[in-house]
Amino acid sequence: MDLHSVEAVVVPTSREDVWPLGAHDAVLAGGTWLFSEPQVDIQRLVDITRLGWPPVVVTGSGVELAATCTIDRVSQLSEELPRQHPEWAAAPLLRHCCDALLASFKIWRTATVGGNVCLSLPAGAMISLLSALDGILTVWRPDGSDYQIAITDFVTGSATNVLSPGELLRAASVPAHALRAMTAFRQLAPSALGRSGIVVIGRRDTEQDGGGFTLSITAATVRPYVFRFDTVPGVGDLRSVHAGIPDDAWTRDAHGDPDWRRGVSLTLAEQICGELR
Ligand SMILES: Cc1cc2nc3c(=O)[nH]c(=O)nc-3n(C[C@H](O)[C@H](O)[C@H](O)COP(=O)(O)OP(=O)(O)OC[C@H]3O[C@@H](n4cnc5c(N)ncnc54)[C@H](O)[C@@H]3O)c2cc1C
Repeated sequence: MDLHSVEAVVVPTSREDVWPLGAHDAVLAGGTWLFSEPQVDIQRLVDITRLGWPPVVVTGSGVELAATCTIDRVSQLSEELPRQHPEWAAAPLLRHCCDALLASFKIWRTATVGGNVCLSLPAGAMISLLSALDGILTVWRPDGSDYQIAITDFVTGSATNVLSPGELLRAASVPAHALRAMTAFRQLAPSALGRSGIVVIGRRDTEQDGGGFTLSITAATVRPYVFRFDTVPGVGDLRSVHAGIPDDAWTRDAHGDPDWRRGVSLTLAEQICGELR
């Protein structure tokens, strides 16, 4: 859709050219959401796709995804990573999470990790991925400094996050210990091509990495809920942490009722524990 209020589009090629970012400026990444609905308050777009960020950096410590890395590029990593790191058993999870963002190939090839995370929708597929794999975000401040924050602290609610005005998400990193883990993934949507209503992911770390178990619940809740255990929990412990999710944290929208999300997410979590035990 045309954005009639936009008077200028700037395309910075270096970090210092990104700012100033004012109240009527919007960062433009893939634009799949920005151009999907009216943006009456936006007068200037700052296109960050020419900053020269490598989309993916793979090292022995893990994977760094640039904020401008596309969903399509993330999905390709499920095949590529095992060739470089056969021990990264969690590689298929990247593709599963990308598949949770049900969209045409055009959206897949354009939408970015940063756009998905910064929109902070409950169904944010990259939020599900990063929550399950201990994802850490790097944010650039307007004063030239950076900070790092866990994805679980970044997203604060449905379409809300900790970004202050003028801040820019630079990258999301996933550590090698999480990539070495066994994972199990469940996703449900009320319609075949609809947005995720519930995403539950289990991760069992290798014995060398401590053997811990991580359960993440996303989409069903307005922000990610991640629970950590020394080992795969029994039904009692699982039900206890699940019951601790506040009533108003269950997502209420067209993609599922809160009661359905609450009940079915527990069933899926129990399945996952059985699978990874
Ligand atoms: C057909 C369709 C299906 C979709 N399905 C889903 C779905 O299943 N789940 C889901 O969560 N979403 C879905 N979406 C919305 C989806 O989140 C976005 O389309 C996409 O991930 C956003 O990425 P983008 O790069 O296009 O972001 P843009 O549209 O460019 O930007 C989105 C927002 O994030 C801000 N932003 C972008 N990058 C940064 C950055 N690096 N730092 C700071 N702010 C930034 C922008 O200013 C804007 O406010 C869907 C959209 C469409 C059109």
